[in-house]
Amino acid sequence: NADASTSTYGLSLESYEPEPWMLKDANKDSRQLLHLIVVGHVDAGKSTLMGRILHLLGRVSQKEMHKNEKESKQQGKGSFAYAFVLDEGAEERARGVTMTVAVAHFETPKLRVVLLDAPGHRDFVPNMISGASQADAAILVVDASIGAFEAGLEGEGQGRGQTREHAQLVRSLGVEQLIVAVNKLDAVDFSKERFDFIRGTLQPFLKQCGFKDGSLQWVPVSASEGQNLTMASTESALKAWYNGPCLIELVDSLKPPPRLVARPLRLTIAEVMKTRTLGPSAFGGKLESGAIHSGTKVRVMPSGEIATVKSIELQGQQLKTARAGEGVDVGLNGIDPGMLAPGGVVCHPDYPVPVATRFEVQLLTLDIRTPILKGSQVILHVHHARQPARVDQLVSLLDPKKGTVLRQRPRHLTANQSAIVVIVPDEGVCIEKYSDFRALGRIALREGGKTIAVGIVTDILERK
Ligand code: GDP
Repeated sequence: NADASTSTYGLSLESYEPEPWMLKDANKDSRQLLHLIVVGHVDAGKSTLMGRILHLLGRVSQKEMHKNEKESKQQGKGSFAYAFVLDEGAEERARGVTMTVAVAHFETPKLRVVLLDAPGHRDFVPNMISGASQADAAILVVDASIGAFEAGLEGEGQGRGQTREHAQLVRSLGVEQLIVAVNKLDAVDFSKERFDFIRGTLQPFLKQCGFKDGSLQWVPVSASEGQNLTMASTESALKAWYNGPCLIELVDSLKPPPRLVARPLRLTIAEVMKTRTLGPSAFGGKLESGAIHSGTKVRVMPSGEIATVKSIELQGQQLKTARAGEGVDVGLNGIDPGMLAPGGVVCHPDYPVPVATRFEVQLLTLDIRTPILKGSQVILHVHHARQPARVDQLVSLLDPKKGTVLRQRPRHLTANQSAIVVIVPDEGVCIEKYSDFRALGRIALREGGKTIAVGIVTDILERK
């Protein structure tokens, strides 16, 4: 049964009727949710920028900032004070590299923004994929200082070309709106020439990646000096040539995604936990569609087990109901904790997500040295799932810009090619066609610790 519009349990999605409690008060909060990811080359200033914004918006207290400053001075890293706001783990502090997708919240006049911090270090790209698969928009931070911008774009060695890789990744995962924050302008005397040079160099590349002019915005900032972040710059050298919107004004102008409240429940499991209030079978995740209510029954995929929602928490606060777009922690009753794992999806009992055993994807290969062949073994990443898989078939090679077929059944795929391929995961994986359901239809393939391709699910060929 390969028809994605029919659930495994025989019910067609067209027959689905949302329940009254799902829609009641659904539009009470006029401010819409937007998930935002911050990407860019290592050391571009991502953590500093976000830490500084949270501080300026009053999300981090003076006391906390002071404590962070003191701790970072003690470790001889004074400039990392703001970065410390986001980097929570002790191990990360010792290493001075952001490892997890940190989540913070802030509000703009129109939006409630959930911030997904993405690490810049190459080894940590898997975390970025998991963040980008939830993102509605991205901020690409580039380091304007002489040599650093160039290193981020081309460069050599470990951190080679992450500016490009990250931009390509977020776009291929379906993120359409991008703000480029040209950071560290203080290091180049707030030079307009430098800003224009960076924009002129990066723009053609971002367009090639598929970002459209209308959804691409540029802003000059200095994260460490707090310039042009939450209000117009006070720096005369910058004011002399820039009077456009500051970074937060640009964030406020981003378009939030439609909320799929009236669709069957899809709640992705990002992490599994046990807490005193949620109990032993609990998890954190994001509602991609539908709603949950404490006391209702849910089906946990891929196992198919039925459980009852015991309690729901949003940032530690108890909730009765949570709806599409929200990230929540949920405790379940009547299910073994072993049935919960990242990559699982909690669903409406009668309308579970497909568990695919063979599916087709449209891929963009990254800067790979070893070609991808029929039979290549890879690690498949899709929302929070991560598992071994095989490239089962190379169906066709596409023109990367037009999407038209250049050749049927290519022998292999090399760097920067667009193609249709068939993937067979070692075990069934919870996915949807991208055209049906964006958040569950974005994938990445990795091999030998490197991302080799990213793309979207175009068809589910076989399912459990
Ligand atoms: P990340 O790896 O992208 O998260 O970068 P961090 O936020 O950790 O910053 C890397 C380094 O750049 C730190 O030493 C920061 O103090 C420094 N930095 C960040 N923003 C600025 C800026 O606007 N100007 C200057 N001069 N340095 C900055």
